[in-house]
Amino acid sequence: MQGKIIKGIAGFYYVDVIGSGIYECKAKGIFRKEKKKPLVGDNVEIQILNEEEKTGNLVKILPRKNELIRPASANVDQALVIFAVRQPDPNYGLLDRFLISMEQQNVPVIICFNKHDLAQEEAEKLYRLYTDCGYQVLLTSAWKEEGIEEVKKILEGKTTVVAGPSGVGKSSLTNLLQKEISMETGEISKKLKRGKHTTRHSQLLYAGEDTYLMDTPGFSSLYLEGMEKEELREYFPEFHPYQEQCRFQGCVHIHEPGCGVKEALETGKISKQRYDNYVSFYQELKEKEKRRY
Ligand code: GDP
Ligand code: ZN
Repeated sequence: MQGKIIKGIAGFYYVDVIGSGIYECKAKGIFRKEKKKPLVGDNVEIQILNEEEKTGNLVKILPRKNELIRPASANVDQALVIFAVRQPDPNYGLLDRFLISMEQQNVPVIICFNKHDLAQEEAEKLYRLYTDCGYQVLLTSAWKEEGIEEVKKILEGKTTVVAGPSGVGKSSLTNLLQKEISMETGEISKKLKRGKHTTRHSQLLYAGEDTYLMDTPGFSSLYLEGMEKEELREYFPEFHPYQEQCRFQGCVHIHEPGCGVKEALETGKISKQRYDNYVSFYQELKEKEKRRY
């Protein structure tokens, strides 16, 4: 039988087989030998051990479309990162770090600013700030149920990592997105939710045909990893059009004279807040490099 790993805890993998339910499976020794670790999101073949108890063995991992390190997962199409317009105020450093991490892993990101109802003007500003950088931005209010259809359209038929710090309305939104799912799948969600409060693991939630949400634990910090400081500028898409005007090849846009990016900053074409985060991340990577040697 074929299914999808929706959750993995302590050596057990929960495999959703459409139409048959969720099986608790163990990975067989072959995976360990091959050093291949099953991931949430993997499409797998299982062998049923006991139909009544819904247990089985994982026998094969089907080819992956991609593989993410953070959060550990497979076959992810995109990420939806949720921040609140207010309560809590957005942590821009954290948001920018998340954008970098996803871009680094080649995962397109959609930014959702929730609690639009609390501060409309602020929300519009945020919308402009990040759309100007080239990101897709959505404004929602889980409370007023506004903007939900647009989110649904974007999620349809895809597997989406849903992330954000706690308190921004991630559960409220996820609940709305799963609201109209039939009884049968509602039961699956219930089963999964039961475990939700006892674990800090990511899990896949079914949200319609071929549509999955990967619910991840709320995060409050994120370290930049796996990149050289010189690479960082690649992850600020709004710098790209100005980079060509830099006098020096390999300009990192900090102290160099004749820098196109800094010029764009002066004339307000690049956001100061984003640029300041860039500089502070650059310093962080530099410090990290020093410690390495
Ligand atoms: P999570 O920690 O990100 O899962 O956030 P919750 O969904 O638990 O929501 C945190 C708090 O924000 C709760 O008190 C919600 O009622 C509230 N909340 C969620 N969405 C909205 C919204 O769109 N507008 C307002 N005003 N409050 C919201
Ligand atoms: Zn430059």
